[in-house]
Formats: sequence, C-alpha cells, structure tokens
Amino acid sequence: MTMSVRSDIESRAACGVLTIDLAAIVANYQLLCRQTAPSKAAGVVKADAYGLGVAHVAPALYDAGCRDFFVAHFVEAVRLKPYLPSDARILVLNGLLPGSETDCADLGVVPVLNSLEQVTNWSATAKALGKTLPAAIQVDTGMSRLGLEPQDVDTLLAEPERLASVHVEIVMSHLACGDEVEHDANPRQLARMRAVRARFPDAKLSFANSAGIFLGDDFHGDLARPGIALYGGAPLAGGDNPMRPVVRLEVGIVQTRTVHAGAEIGYGASFVAPAKMRLATIAAGYADGLPRHLSNSGAAFFGGVRLPIVGRVSMDSIILDVTDLPAGTLKLGDMVELIGPHQTLEMIASDAGTISYEILTSLGRRYRRRYLSPAAR
Ligand SMILES: *Cc1c(COP(=O)(O)O)cnc(C)c1O
Repeated sequence: MTMSVRSDIESRAACGVLTIDLAAIVANYQLLCRQTAPSKAAGVVKADAYGLGVAHVAPALYDAGCRDFFVAHFVEAVRLKPYLPSDARILVLNGLLPGSETDCADLGVVPVLNSLEQVTNWSATAKALGKTLPAAIQVDTGMSRLGLEPQDVDTLLAEPERLASVHVEIVMSHLACGDEVEHDANPRQLARMRAVRARFPDAKLSFANSAGIFLGDDFHGDLARPGIALYGGAPLAGGDNPMRPVVRLEVGIVQTRTVHAGAEIGYGASFVAPAKMRLATIAAGYADGLPRHLSNSGAAFFGGVRLPIVGRVSMDSIILDVTDLPAGTLKLGDMVELIGPHQTLEMIASDAGTISYEILTSLGRRYRRRYLSPAAR
C-alpha cells in the first residue's frame, strides 16, 4: 500500500479533527510586530510550536518575515533546522549540555548561555574550531530558573578572556509575572535588565515574551520573544484577548444512550444520574490531551449548547450530558466542539485547572490535523 493511500485512510479513520489556522498564526505574528515596532519579534517555537507542528508553523512565520526562532532544547533546533532557510537564526533557550557544543556550532545554531560554565564550554569550542561563534547570554533578573547571576556578569566583564572567540549577539532575560500587569516583579525585573543591558552595549536586548509585549514599550527591548500569543492564547491574564484564535478541536460521538435516575456514570461511579438523562460518549480522553481534571467539570459544545462532562475523563473517551439538546439531535459520528468559537483555550484550561500553554502542548497525536494555509484563505 502506498503512503498516500494509507494517509487517506488514516485521515478518514480519525475520530477527532484538530484544525490549525496558519493564517491566524501569521496574523497574530503581524499584530505582535506592529505592537513591538520598531523592535523586532522572534517566534518561540519550542515544544513543537506549542504542540501545533513546528514543521508547518516555522516556515509560515519565516514567510511572514520572522528570522529568529527560539526553541528550548538543542534537539529541537536539530529537528527544526531543515525546515528553515539558512538566513534564519535558531536559538536554544536552555543552552547546551556538555558534548553538544561542536554539533551546535556545525549546525550554525546559537546557544543561549545560562552559566559561566556554558560560557567557558562555548568559548573553548570556538577556539578549538578556530572561529568566532555567536551566542546569546541570559541573565536571571528574578526568576531563579535559567541565566547568569549578576555577580557572574561582574566576573565575565572583569575577565573578558572568558568570552574569547564568542560574539555576544543578544543579552536576554525572562519575565516571571508578565501576564499580571500590576505585579511589582515586572518593574523590578525591568530595572535589573536595564542595568545588565548597559553592560553589554553592543548586544541586542531580548526581554518581552507575549505578555511583556503588552506591558508597554519599556519592556520591548530589540527582539521580543512571543510564544503563546502567536498560537491564539491570551497574552495577559483577564481582560480581552486581542489575538486571533488558531486552534479548533472537534471530536466525534461514538455512542449515545438514555439512562435513568441512579445510573452510575464512568470510572469510580463518580457521577450518579439524579434523573433520567441523555448521554453521549465522545472519542477522546486524557491520552488525547483532555486533562483528567475535566472530570465532572468541563464541557463540550454543540450548536452553541453547553454539554457538561459527567463522570471521569477516561483515557480514550469522555461522557457528556446531552439532555439539553432535543432527543435525537446527536448521532453516531456527529462532532462536538472542545475548542472553538464557543469554548476558548482559556475556558477549557480554566475548567481543567491549568493554563492554555498546557492544553496546547498536550494536544494528542490521534486527531486528524488539518492545516489552514495562509495562501488558502
Ligand atoms: C517559553 C518562553 C517564551 C515565550 O513565552 P510566552 O509566554 O509563550 O510568550 C519566551 N522566553 C522564554 C525564555 C521562554 O521560556
């Protein structure tokens, strides 16, 4: 059997459809560029472009003018490299583990150096290869996660031979509380970032994530690093979401039934029907990225009607209370909406006790993935 016949069968066989609107990602990128101008915006495409498929997303961003792509792990840079023309810059946020430096240099990937040890290793690699290698340097300004401490910066500038054969293109830091507009950590981190920036006058400054872009010009630096906002997530907690929705998730019904008062529903009988109810079982569960915390809490939608999840979310299925729909409305194979016009990413994330980022990056591999290309619209 040829691949394409098999993939035709495969796409008809899927019980759910995940639609990813690349035109919306491009529109979001353009909005973020306008918001940061005259500074530039990179694209953060770590974790397979937040679960949406970096092989599709990165080239679409490139075509929209994006030239800087951030991944988290070096292995992601290795996988991304073939999808981008050679003038795209790929940066590795987590830096390098010992042993990866030469591969990184050979691929022309730029590491974010997060410690003096990583600086030493990168400089040694550059010297061994007999060339100057580019780098970004991250400084921790108040998150205690990744980056040099302020005293490490003192050391670096007092002992410039540590940076021999390394060209620091970017100096960066990351906001811990950017999505909370009023949080006093934001101005504190900004003040520390400015002090660091003054010490690397020739490097470009990269500071804002999606949220930071909306905190005002002071936060923009030279190169913003939006992730979630590209993918339609709200950059700031609360308030209106200015981004265009990117993801739509619809899942098919595999069974409907009517139960009477007292019927026990799902694993652990965590829900007992208080009265006669109509139920529909859909073909997606926690293995498809619908968190078990949606048990007895989340919902799907059909024709604008909210269909509450009853009982526990199973690995491969979820039971919905469809009593609010007229009898016979839903049939085997009909699709209900999990993410879309009636239920935003933020709504389902909130029902699951999590954030949009975790919902996106968990979206399963069993859906048919349908990409709406920028050109097709
Ligand atoms: C993930 C990440 C980003 C992107 O953050 P969003 O909130 O998704 O915009 C930017 N910078 C760093 C260092 C990150 O880890």
